[in-house]
Amino acid sequence: MATPELPNAVIADALEELGDLYELDGAIVHRVVAYRSAAKRVREASVSVAALARAGRATELPGIGATLQEKIVTLLDAGTIPAAERLRAKFPPGLIAITRIPGLGPKRARLLQLELGIDSPESLREAALAQRLRGVRGLGPKFEANVLAALQAGAAERAAPRILLPKAIAVGAALIAGLSERARPGTRIELAGSVRRQADSVKDLDLIATTSRPAALAGTLAGLDEIESVSAAGGAGARGRTHAGMTVDLRIAKPSQHGNLLQHFTGSARHNAALREASVRGGLHVSEYGLLEDASGRTRTCATEAELYELLGLAYIEPELREDRGELQAARLDGGAGLPALVRLEDIRGDLHCHTIASDGHNSIEEMAAAARERGYEYLAFTDHSASHGFGNDVSPDQLRRQIELVHRENARIDGIELLAGSEVNILPDGGLDYEDELLAELDWVIASMHTAFAMSEQKMTERMIAAIEHPLVRAIGHPTGRLIARRAPYAIDLDAVFAAAARTGTMLEINGNPDRRDLSDVQARAAARAGATIVIDSDAHRVLTLENMRWGVASARRGWLTAADVANSRSLAQLRELGKQPRK
Ligand SMILES: [Zn+2]
Ligand SMILES: [Zn+2]
Repeated sequence: MATPELPNAVIADALEELGDLYELDGAIVHRVVAYRSAAKRVREASVSVAALARAGRATELPGIGATLQEKIVTLLDAGTIPAAERLRAKFPPGLIAITRIPGLGPKRARLLQLELGIDSPESLREAALAQRLRGVRGLGPKFEANVLAALQAGAAERAAPRILLPKAIAVGAALIAGLSERARPGTRIELAGSVRRQADSVKDLDLIATTSRPAALAGTLAGLDEIESVSAAGGAGARGRTHAGMTVDLRIAKPSQHGNLLQHFTGSARHNAALREASVRGGLHVSEYGLLEDASGRTRTCATEAELYELLGLAYIEPELREDRGELQAARLDGGAGLPALVRLEDIRGDLHCHTIASDGHNSIEEMAAAARERGYEYLAFTDHSASHGFGNDVSPDQLRRQIELVHRENARIDGIELLAGSEVNILPDGGLDYEDELLAELDWVIASMHTAFAMSEQKMTERMIAAIEHPLVRAIGHPTGRLIARRAPYAIDLDAVFAAAARTGTMLEINGNPDRRDLSDVQARAAARAGATIVIDSDAHRVLTLENMRWGVASARRGWLTAADVANSRSLAQLRELGKQPRK
């Protein structure tokens, strides 16, 4: 038998390391980025990249050319890539690890090596704890604190790599399709776990199934294209790993236990613990198998989750709320009166943040408008980037005037949807905006966002944001914390002060639906709404396809307990206009 090929994760790590090495070596950005994006493609591929490369077909993956395919085959044959070996010899291995710490990068890593002899995360940590980093020119106590926080966060991340929700759903759907093809009629398979709770990211996939032939179903998991290996399979289920390194747990029960199984494996662990604790007082023991009654010694099984919650004296709790954030108390009130009627995707009547080819989008005004109308929207705001966005996507004041004309012209032409001429205006470091007020006043909709200068102090950042919130022409703040899920922490900002300012001025705060962002987060959106701020959910689409990202924003809103009334764009355009802004104090 042949030796097993390298898993995708190992190949991806090797390509990523090569990218880092090139960067440390001062290679052109283009080359570094090429390796990083190739690594990402490999990591996310749903089939074995080793097998593809052997067959000469790895070039079918986007971003992988003949040279990269060759390097992958060399890696498979020799266990290493010669270019990486050569560069690795030039730098201490710990230094490469340091370049990957958020806020550092190759430039600072080399500075620290030069000035303090730091060449590993361990020596970096020691130096930060001993407050020696602040002695280096250009670095300060704040940098030291950031380094320590990043090291800690990095350790947590390595313990459990996380996958963004859309990718997890796609893999889950492929697995369900594969299993269903091989299953007996009447078999029911669905996604549970954090995917069903619509979490930002997940670390493993929970599938539950009810079937009359459990062992046979469990046996088919190993045969799926997406599965790299299976470590256990039996009558109760199977556990495997995908080529992307995700653990898959398949649990199987009888149809009469479907409710128990689904509830248990939807979690969260904290919700279930709270549920168990509350139930024990009533003489009931909740488990994945059923509900054991102390009084009768009987185990009751539930075909649906609603039945299960009812037996526990609770109203049905939506999966997105099952985080032990007060949902049990709310569900205990008469008939679940304390639970919110969560906003649904169907409640959304328009999208107020998208891009076109005028900045860094990929579709025209006409194409975006038609697609939005297709989705049933009543309105769409075009918010291309502003005058100082950089990356070659600036929209000069003259170009914006032209864009306003084009949007209004298309609006006059198209039926069934109202088009708003807007802009996603940069909030400058001093809190100002990068168009004159006179020009901003010509727009139908202004959303203001921060895209640069994130490294300011919390106080400065908060003042900067509040200045934008208080600007009389700014209707909403885009992606208010700047986080990128599992990649970049939010900038330092006092959100309570931001929420209060938004509530006071009537400036809306966005839940950005880009699955990398989901910003505000669920918890933050809930706090903002409680503080009296109005939330707007946007796709931030850069092409027709990603108008779909609205759904991830709605998912965060649901996890944040929001109702349609909390969300500005669940209103008609006329009602939205009535949500006018309060004049500056
Ligand atoms: Zn933006
Ligand atoms: Zn945007």
